Amino acid sequence: MGANDVLARLNSSGFLRTQGFIGGKWVDAYDGKTIQVNNPATGEVIADVACMGTEEANDAIASAYEAFQTWSKVTAAERSKLLRKWYDLIIANKEQLGELITLEQGKPLKEAIGEISLGASYIEFYAEEAKRVYGDIIPTNMPDRRLFLLKQPVGVVGAITPWNFPFAMIARKVGPALAAGCTVVIKPSELTPLSALAAAELSLQAGIPPGVVNVVMGIAPEIGDALLASTQVRKITFTGSTAVGKKLMAGAAGTVKKVSLELGGNAPCIIFDDADLEVAIKGTLGTKFRNTGQTCICANRILVQEGIYDKFAKALSDAINNLKVGDGFTEGVVQGPLINEAAVQKGAEVLLGGKRHGLGFTFYEPTVISNVNNEMRISREEVFGPVAPLLRFKTEEEAISIANDTNAGLAAYLFSSNVQRTWRVAEALEYGIVGINEGLVSSEVTPHGGVKQSGLGREGSKYGMDDYLEIKYVCLGNMC
Ligand code: ADP
Repeated sequence: MGANDVLARLNSSGFLRTQGFIGGKWVDAYDGKTIQVNNPATGEVIADVACMGTEEANDAIASAYEAFQTWSKVTAAERSKLLRKWYDLIIANKEQLGELITLEQGKPLKEAIGEISLGASYIEFYAEEAKRVYGDIIPTNMPDRRLFLLKQPVGVVGAITPWNFPFAMIARKVGPALAAGCTVVIKPSELTPLSALAAAELSLQAGIPPGVVNVVMGIAPEIGDALLASTQVRKITFTGSTAVGKKLMAGAAGTVKKVSLELGGNAPCIIFDDADLEVAIKGTLGTKFRNTGQTCICANRILVQEGIYDKFAKALSDAINNLKVGDGFTEGVVQGPLINEAAVQKGAEVLLGGKRHGLGFTFYEPTVISNVNNEMRISREEVFGPVAPLLRFKTEEEAISIANDTNAGLAAYLFSSNVQRTWRVAEALEYGIVGINEGLVSSEVTPHGGVKQSGLGREGSKYGMDDYLEIKYVCLGNMC
């Protein structure tokens, strides 16, 4: 089935939402303006969605603030039940939601449905975690006092998300936020708002009260500034570029908001001479070519030890040659288009590929570039495309030094069969996530986040809940 048929079906079944979602109601931009959403595989317009700004954002904040007064007092068990219902509805409709992602973002349908399942798993996990937010009692230091700690929701949360995982990046923020008792104003990427809007509709159907989840999109800086300026918004959670993350962090200072930031990565993937070649190739393909290379934990620099370099370079090129490129709705396609024309123009020099794919437009050939060094631009910046640059190294110390020579510190990967080495190198890498002999490491049960300029805070796992909670110390005096 082609994109246009899918679009028509989604439209008639009510999955194609184009308005903002404020206080449980679907609303147009107040001035009636819209913004186009395009299919990255064809450039065709899929939808005209509301182009909102300051006023709509302020109303969304007001509705989230009002809803917070009740949602924060609902029992954890009740919040858990409603989140679980939302999860069930998302899973029941994962094909349609996945189709929306392929339409707006381009990734192959199977991968898009996988993203829905991944995102939903965060909602399920935090539905369970909601019931496990325990406080504490501190042994008193004075006989007439009792000392307690309460964990309470931080308040209204502004969640700003990117286009590469249009649903999962939202789910892993909104899941823990709602579980903790917070309410949210979501600003999805203007390039990919459709799956977020459809998921918001399902939250209402699940019985999550109006105002707990709000979605506004349009003029990003206006919405961002409204969230930053409001004293009712107590936290900003952001996934996206380091440049915008820094702006938001600076902007949050005005009202001293909490911030969680998941910013750019520059992941090294280190292949040692003693690696199992097959495991290394499988892992490298997994981390480099997932989402057509457009993830912040994608391997950005593949460091290969000199003894295995030639063998690895050939095996990787052979494997990449077999990756089928095309429209995400075509059976067997594993590499979709890049998000837009701007992403294609980054290009570079080459062992395999290195140019636009024969399909033209936003399609790029899966590419291997040999003999790269760490000073080249391709090693300093995020590639965010299906391009694998290979860097040659001699010693373990050299590999660690190259790997850490960056301001980013999100994910790193290493392939080796020597257990002592894997521990040594994992400990030495200045990264928030390390995959050993494995390229796909994200899940709802593990903490995701970076060090250095890759961000602040963690998403997923029991630790992800802390980002949405305040600790209140209560002292009860005059006991005797
Ligand atoms: P990417 O390179 O992944 O698109 P961006 O940081 O540009 O990363 O975008 C991530 C999200 O941040 C998107 O939702 C985008 O609209 C939003 N954004 C961009 N600029 C601003 C801004 N000044 N204030 C608030 N949000 C912004």
